[in-house]
Amino acid sequence: MADTQRDTLPTGSRFAPFLGRGIHEGQPAQPTARRARCQVRAAASPPALPFRVGHGFDLHRLEPDRQLIIGGVTIPHDRGCDAHSDGDVLMHCIVDAILGALSLPDIGQLFPDNDPKWKGAASSVFMKEAIKRMREAGYSLGNLDATVILQRPKLSPHKEAIKAILCELLEAHPSCINIKAKTHEKVDSLGENRSVACHTVVLLLKDS
Ligand SMILES: [Zn+2]
Repeated sequence: MADTQRDTLPTGSRFAPFLGRGIHEGQPAQPTARRARCQVRAAASPPALPFRVGHGFDLHRLEPDRQLIIGGVTIPHDRGCDAHSDGDVLMHCIVDAILGALSLPDIGQLFPDNDPKWKGAASSVFMKEAIKRMREAGYSLGNLDATVILQRPKLSPHKEAIKAILCELLEAHPSCINIKAKTHEKVDSLGENRSVACHTVVLLLKDS
């Protein structure tokens, strides 16, 4: 924050708690003091934000003799994701975006890949848990925009099937879910058919 902005903020501003002594005055706070102040803030009621934004990212190696599952759809290909679960890069990414929007632990913390319970698990299980936590927090999906990055095969023939599965899981209108696919211009592991990645952004709306 620029000095001019800081200096003009009223003391009653919502930013006031963050403008106390410390880095904003050019004097680095002691880590213990900073943590103590953070704990004081955490003890207060969290703000009931009307919107929350979350971002998810995921990447998996592609290996022969594995199924390629994206958005709950099994896609014919010469290789699939190497993963502890079914390796659904899109669902993992959406789960992390939802959990991120809610400031909850990420997918790796909730479903550790060294837990035999999740070996070969369908990623819809993770989706259902993230959606349950979203509902418990009092939020619904506003919209979702995802970009899957893979050199091949083409995702377009499968987009509608993927969208139908996501709409059902999220109880969302189709216009609120957008799935895009891009190649990686034959560059790096993504472009050489050795990996698949995904980015997702979600907007959650507070239930009225
Ligand atoms: Zn994953």
